[in-house]
Amino acid sequence: MSWRSFFRSPCEAAAPPCGDMDCSSTRRLWRRFRWRHGTIRLHDSLYCAPSCFEAAARQRFAQLCVATIPAAPMRHRVPLGLLMISREQLTNQQLRSALEAQRGNGRQRLGEWLERLGYATERQVTAALAQQWACPVLASKTICDPNCLRLLPYHMLENSRILPVQFVPSTRMFHLAFSDGIDYSALYAIGQMLDCRTQACLATRSAVGQALQLIGHERRPRELLFEGWRDAAEMARITCGYVLKLGAEAVRMVGCAGFIWARLSTGPDVANLLFPRSAETPLTADLGRDSSGVPLPITG
Ligand SMILES: [Zn+2]
Repeated sequence: MSWRSFFRSPCEAAAPPCGDMDCSSTRRLWRRFRWRHGTIRLHDSLYCAPSCFEAAARQRFAQLCVATIPAAPMRHRVPLGLLMISREQLTNQQLRSALEAQRGNGRQRLGEWLERLGYATERQVTAALAQQWACPVLASKTICDPNCLRLLPYHMLENSRILPVQFVPSTRMFHLAFSDGIDYSALYAIGQMLDCRTQACLATRSAVGQALQLIGHERRPRELLFEGWRDAAEMARITCGYVLKLGAEAVRMVGCAGFIWARLSTGPDVANLLFPRSAETPLTADLGRDSSGVPLPITG
């Protein structure tokens, strides 16, 4: 038994312990007026009052902000161009031309240049990428489960060209397809967020684009994008505000696919708050703020 629990009053002792080390009994008294469910869970810890939760959320957001430096690109044993030459799908001259074109306009990937110049088909590029990443290619006739498309925030899928293919509840295995190479950090974050295992494959850019288009027009009132956030304290304040507004019971937050993503659960209902990472997604001009200076979301 810790000294904190030893000195708790009988009234306080009835409540579960708070994860905030600076938690005071004054906050505990306020908790019953503010918290609809008594406590809120942030990952594996419970918090007794909004201020306790917000302090913990601020710490987590600060850690996620620091972790925005993109990981060094994975070094493959064989570069894509050489791999395609070895598969006799490309000549040395074609590779040189595509690399020159890419140097002139580095925004597109080599595979896209090979397609654009008519040197390779989309399927050939995807098959070579799959060999490079040692993973399977999604069969062209695969029909994605529309429900699992909605398990992840749309802005994130669109930003990183991720296609949720199937979620198997009995094994909690989530199959996801990527079109530009596997983002292992995103897979890990999704696994943490949804408490599931993940398995990746590669799909053509057009297959991913078509599937995302199917849900692109849908209204997503529970997906909130905040482009004008300033710091961890503001993200924590916004998240705490939505926890109170929605009566959320549990919150998880991770860095994933260009965003800091907070997932608020209220029973079976889920709300996703997305904060674009400044290092990876350029912020647009400061968007609307309410009277207290808190950014207003752009609802998808
Ligand atoms: Zn507390």
